[in-house]
Amino acid sequence: MEIDLNNIPLASPDLRQSDIDRVINVLKSGQLVQGKLVSEVEGKISNLIGTSNSRMVSNGTATMHLALLALGIGKGDEVIVPAFSYVATANVVELVGAKSVFVDIDLKTFNIDENKIIEKINSRTKAIIPVHEFGLPCNIDKIINIAKENNLKVIEDAACAFGATFLGKHVGTFGDFGSFSFHPRKAVTSGEGGCLVINDQKLVSKIEALRNHGIQVIDGNMQFVEAGFNYRMTEFQAALLIGQLDRTQEIIKTRSALAEAYEVLIVNPNIIKPVVTQGSMHSWQTYHLIIENKGRDEVISKLKEEGVGSNYGAQCIPLQDYYLKKYNLNCEKNFPNAVKAFKCGLAIPLYEKLSIKHIEKISNLLNRIV
Ligand SMILES: *Cc1c(COP(=O)(O)O)cnc(C)c1O
Repeated sequence: MEIDLNNIPLASPDLRQSDIDRVINVLKSGQLVQGKLVSEVEGKISNLIGTSNSRMVSNGTATMHLALLALGIGKGDEVIVPAFSYVATANVVELVGAKSVFVDIDLKTFNIDENKIIEKINSRTKAIIPVHEFGLPCNIDKIINIAKENNLKVIEDAACAFGATFLGKHVGTFGDFGSFSFHPRKAVTSGEGGCLVINDQKLVSKIEALRNHGIQVIDGNMQFVEAGFNYRMTEFQAALLIGQLDRTQEIIKTRSALAEAYEVLIVNPNIIKPVVTQGSMHSWQTYHLIIENKGRDEVISKLKEEGVGSNYGAQCIPLQDYYLKKYNLNCEKNFPNAVKAFKCGLAIPLYEKLSIKHIEKISNLLNRIV
């Protein structure tokens, strides 16, 4: 369905009749949870990104939770996370009883500042969770080097970055684990869904057990070898993904073209536009601006009056209630870039159903009202 120029939501998934038909066929088949379509999707994703082990789970938070558990990270351990991301990146660290250690971001890329990681490493540090924020790859090769030198594990939070590559290699395949989300706000969606890339073959069966009540089949018998979760994906979610996976390149291409149009059409000097770093292919999950001179919230309400949806892009995590109460960190002093990105950041519409007309309207509005 075409998007009305007078009512442009922030996000809207591009589902085709063929995608819907696949879901209906599953519903008619009666086989509803984790079965052959989930396996098919795992195979397709592995092929697309160049890995041998990817496992589907219920969402892109469950993925990282399982990765931390499989690595045995818990109480007394510390995990390094960027101070600016979706809050789930740190929540999973808290959920296994470990401590989140925040590092400020680079304000140009919105990704973790890799030069500030080393000062946060001590004998309790076990892992780093770098985020490829908004679909722009972080400096993952440098981060992998830091991790190797300090004997740390790396879980890439690539929730926003399905389709993004760094130096020709798909993000999510560099670290010990990689995590993708297929929430409707991402470029490719299963409604709710996630995929965990497992680079250590030895941990595959542990992840499989943890996502499915701790079940392992040993000598043909079902055994309960872990206190596991039910983090399974359904067959109808997998069915919704299949067609989108086949057109991922096309989806990213459309998004890149729209992003290029914004780059040309937004000319207000008080708006800082996103960059694409050298060696990166951006998946453009979000087009994220910094509004320099005017209250960002005022811009959100003015856009709303004109029928354009927008919102802040991600949180300064240590500034959120739970983290502020627990860690009481001086964010302005320690994470000035994360605070600025949280307070001045603006995500604007970017998805396949938009055309240049929508981008022109939004750009003109921003040029005028900021
Ligand atoms: C969306 C997102 C998540 C969470 O994914 P869900 O599938 O909603 O659980 C985690 N991290 C980042 C960076 C995200 O953007």
